[in-house]
Amino acid sequence: MVERELLRYLEPYDPGIFPAMVTERYGIPESRVANLASNENPYPLPGPILGALRKALEHANRYPDPSYRRGKAAVAAYLGCTEDRVSLGNGASELLATLALVALNPQDRVVIPIPSYSLYLFVAMLRDASLDLVELDPPLFDVDIERLIARAQGAAMVVLGSPNNPTGRALAMSVVKRLLAETEALVVVDEAYAEFSDHSVVGLVPTWPCLVVIRSCSKYFGLAGLRVGYLVGDPALVDRLERVRLPFNVSRIATTALEAVIRKRAWFHATSRRIVAGRERMKTALETRTRCRVVPSDANFLLVKLPDGLSSGSVMEGLLRRGVIVRDVSGMPGLGEGYLRITVGRPAENQRLVRALAHLPETRAASRRAT
Ligand code: PMP
Repeated sequence: MVERELLRYLEPYDPGIFPAMVTERYGIPESRVANLASNENPYPLPGPILGALRKALEHANRYPDPSYRRGKAAVAAYLGCTEDRVSLGNGASELLATLALVALNPQDRVVIPIPSYSLYLFVAMLRDASLDLVELDPPLFDVDIERLIARAQGAAMVVLGSPNNPTGRALAMSVVKRLLAETEALVVVDEAYAEFSDHSVVGLVPTWPCLVVIRSCSKYFGLAGLRVGYLVGDPALVDRLERVRLPFNVSRIATTALEAVIRKRAWFHATSRRIVAGRERMKTALETRTRCRVVPSDANFLLVKLPDGLSSGSVMEGLLRRGVIVRDVSGMPGLGEGYLRITVGRPAENQRLVRALAHLPETRAASRRAT
């Protein structure tokens, strides 16, 4: 078989545990499983949006508008930028991959703080770029701007998550401004979770041609199952992306959904306030009822450090047996042992998680040891 040597070393993307697997392993019906592993919005879409999707389905035999004019106009109006700065993608994932195709040559150096979303490394590797990983320091994993600026000298690209996955930490605008002012690199800010936070650098895009912002509709806008995201950048770069992307890369249903969620943004704003309030309640409950340490988060998930000596694998298994799925992120590049990433769900799901974690024999044993 002919293959690129790189492919022998690449592992497939690990999506974690899904509810059907818990049903298979533990016999818990899917409807009873609390999926707190994929950072999705736990609230189903409201009726009017479902109605718009049903209507779009009636035209499923027709291709979508090839230039996505209405979808781009909706995003541009939502963000207050011009339409020539917007490109749509099949999720933020596809935009990251297309951007790597457009902006990277083999051997180009790409600076990526770690821990961060594994796809940044994946798309850069597929381009045969050279990875320059900058370790973020616990306990908060915030970017050290002096160190980042030094490493970004001569690099082709810097990729930053804000809020970052799995840490939940957002970047201050001043950090991104300094990076733009003091380096030549293309600065990619992945704002997949930005609407859960008070931070965004979208407003800087018209001033800085070297800044690209990528957003996902899978989180705040609850469209993970439909696959849609958007990118905002310099019109010349967007023009290149539009040449390289596959025709009809976003489905008719997904673009209809994009327009509908932006129209109904007040509903998502209200929902996200519930999620953010739930996040803070969950953080306090975990800190008071378990010996876990919780990283303050700007997103819809929490990075949780288990008490020393506890294995994240066995704690995760214990939670699975109780029908709660979380993500074991221990050992991912840049992260040590004993870390879980927990998505904020609906209040009842959050309470189940806290109760389960507080009652696990492993967690109890650790509490006894520490007291
Ligand atoms: N960026 C980050 C930081 C993410 O966590 C994710 C999803 N896990 C994505 C991008 C990809 O999102 P999408 O579903 O839009 O492809």
